[in-house]
Amino acid sequence: MLLALKDEHPALLKIKKENPSEADLWLLNSCTVKNPAEDHFRNSIKKAQEENKKVVLAGCVPQAQPRQDYLKGLSIIGVQQIDRVVEVVEETIKGHSVRLLGQKKDNGKRLGGARLDLPKIRKNPLIEIISINTGCLNACAYCKTKHARGNLASYPIDELVDRAKQSFQEGVCEIWLTSEDTGAYGRDIGTSLPTLLWKLVEVIPEGAMLRLGMTNPPYILEHLEEMAKILNHPRVYAFLHIPVQSASDSVLMEMKREYCMADFKRVVDFLKKKVPGITIATDIICGFPGETDQDFQETVKLVEEYKFPSLFINQFYPRPGTPAAKMEQVPTQVKKQRTKDLSRVFHSYNPYDHKIGEKQKVLVTEESFDSKFYVAHNQFYEQVLVPKNPSFMGKMVEVDIYESGKHFMKGLPVLDAKVYTPSISKPLAKGEVSGLTKEFRNRLGIHPNLTSHTPAATLHNSASSRMGLQLQRLHQDCVLRAAVGLALVALLFTIFTKVCN
Ligand code: SF4
Repeated sequence: MLLALKDEHPALLKIKKENPSEADLWLLNSCTVKNPAEDHFRNSIKKAQEENKKVVLAGCVPQAQPRQDYLKGLSIIGVQQIDRVVEVVEETIKGHSVRLLGQKKDNGKRLGGARLDLPKIRKNPLIEIISINTGCLNACAYCKTKHARGNLASYPIDELVDRAKQSFQEGVCEIWLTSEDTGAYGRDIGTSLPTLLWKLVEVIPEGAMLRLGMTNPPYILEHLEEMAKILNHPRVYAFLHIPVQSASDSVLMEMKREYCMADFKRVVDFLKKKVPGITIATDIICGFPGETDQDFQETVKLVEEYKFPSLFINQFYPRPGTPAAKMEQVPTQVKKQRTKDLSRVFHSYNPYDHKIGEKQKVLVTEESFDSKFYVAHNQFYEQVLVPKNPSFMGKMVEVDIYESGKHFMKGLPVLDAKVYTPSISKPLAKGEVSGLTKEFRNRLGIHPNLTSHTPAATLHNSASSRMGLQLQRLHQDCVLRAAVGLALVALLFTIFTKVCN
């Protein structure tokens, strides 16, 4: 990700996303999951330096290895410090190099990260993405994310529920819960994922939905009964992303994944039985060190048997500094061929053909890439393309399925289509700051009458003296600074939470 900032006024950093070359500073976020993403990050830094831009770096790459040569002398904001982005940007613009890489702690206990109730700008005003914890309890041999994110640190349930409530009040109709491993949620703070989910479903209004993020098999195994009940809830998508990575026990052991094939199958078979129609998405790595042809064939068989409707196939890349990088590698040609073979198997079936003719209730949340349709999802989080009728956006409507493809269905609203949205508020406008609450205004010392929407009017009405005018100007600067800075926080936060999900 690249954001560019223009310093036009001491307290006003203007975001210029469209034209980075006009900016004084580039804020570059990074992902360490795959090699190409890190290469892209390195190239962006080089480009910024060639253009004489000030640079602030964020994300897992500088957090995990801040001493790398190409990061020398550059400002870094750590993955748990994103709420301090304004300070780092201001100091960097003044010519200082600042590095905030510490962990957030309370009485010596590691916290989840930046506060959840910080103001933010949602990429899509209809969707709220909430990271329920950072880090995980595993030590997968190929993973670099763990180096940056560390051990599990969960957010408390009441903070997560408050965030969800606030989002619904602001017109959000879909919440995504994310983390490196949602199944491990709460183990560090004496609670569990099902406990959190039962609390959250209480606050989901009719017409809105909750989507659960990625969970690895080991910890979810303990909660299967409860998870099945929750995934059957009408306001929770019957969808779970469970990365298997390989169907060979010996490869799983080399990967240090902490489960075997029988565990994975137990989770999937149980949920398929108890949650009829559930979508199970998974990930597979092709060509992990030591993977034999026979190991790979076991993975092919698994895909043929389960016909996962959503499958992320990754050719193995050794990440420097990980145990897997020191193992004997499978030749590149073999890795490529296996990736191709598995993709062919994946494309040999069409998971939605049998749904043509069904009536489905779908929640419409965005526009398709080609701008020809609106994108909606049914109860199983399967993608359904619907006609672009603005009255459907953010709403749940009933459609007739008339066509299907590999990754989608197409639906037409049924005759006299009912729109189900009784308890959803009007969403914020695109780009509007969410969560500038009274409490946050007080902390910033902002007058309650002064809102980010009407600064000029408030200034005019209340500035009865020179002193008053100066104070109001200060407050206005605070609002602008808070809104812009925290918008950056939100954008970073969104990227962080998406990276591992
Ligand atoms: S791959 Fe996921 S579960 Fe494994 S160590 Fe990395 S972040 Fe943790």
